[in-house]
Amino acid sequence: MSELVVTGLRAAVAGREVLRGIDIVVRSGEVHAVMGPNGAGKSTLGKVLLGHPAYEVLDGSVCLDGVELLGRPTWERAAAGLFLAPQDPIEVPGVTVAAVLAEALVASGRAAAAGPALLARLAEEAGALGVSPALLERGLNVDASGGERKRMETLQLAALAPSVAVLDELDSGLDVDALRECAQRIAAAARPAPGVTALGVLAITHYRRLLDVLRPDRVHVLVGGRLVASGGPELADELEQAGYAAYLDPSEAAAAAPAGEGGLDALFR
Ligand code: ADP
Ligand code: MG
Repeated sequence: MSELVVTGLRAAVAGREVLRGIDIVVRSGEVHAVMGPNGAGKSTLGKVLLGHPAYEVLDGSVCLDGVELLGRPTWERAAAGLFLAPQDPIEVPGVTVAAVLAEALVASGRAAAAGPALLARLAEEAGALGVSPALLERGLNVDASGGERKRMETLQLAALAPSVAVLDELDSGLDVDALRECAQRIAAAARPAPGVTALGVLAITHYRRLLDVLRPDRVHVLVGGRLVASGGPELADELEQAGYAAYLDPSEAAAAAPAGEGGLDALFR
């Protein structure tokens, strides 16, 4: 049983406070969805949880199983059991996914899983997730489409079996079949067979399609760097119908307007 406890998390980037006090608890087997308009701070939340160096933490705490992660390097957070599937996974030329995973498994004290067993495991998971064998041979994500990268993230999640996974728009770029395969794999990790530790999920998404398979326990609305509302799965339906207008305060509504001060910024969010 794992527990990620985020308390009063505030963070800035490029001199501007983007996370303005985030409180959330994600336990093993729980699926939390975070939805919100462009520029709300969703990706920032994922990056700050994993310790991206461009983001300055101003206040708060991020504890995984009672261990404070803030101030620790990203690899230690990952070794402790936190995982991020980024919105835009990068290419790592010359380093295969098997090499990445072998290092990660060794660093998290699971050297036994990093040997020949890893290749068999990867081949099996890749088959289920529709990752082509050619992609396994190449440098990570090299010449891969957006959707192939998202499948590759899901493959890494499956092989690493983290305690808590942050999925930043895993659904973007995936076609309907790939989305179902990836979401089903993650749902299986979150609701595993008895005796297997369940994955906790924090899924950032704009669309209900992912949530139809992941079936979140809680849905949170992130606006202007704060979680302004939380509810059950029905909240995702409401948001898809009505958008975020009801949650924008007047200053954010003004910032989102296409004209006037900050208007150009808004176009690029
Ligand atoms: P979301 O994922 O909710 O669309 P982000 O977390 O990516 O939003 O961004 C939140 C705000 O922080 C945006 O206004 C964005 O322009 C700004 N921001 C994020 N990362 C950076 C960065 N590295 N440099 C400058 N501004 C950034
Ligand atoms: Mg984002």
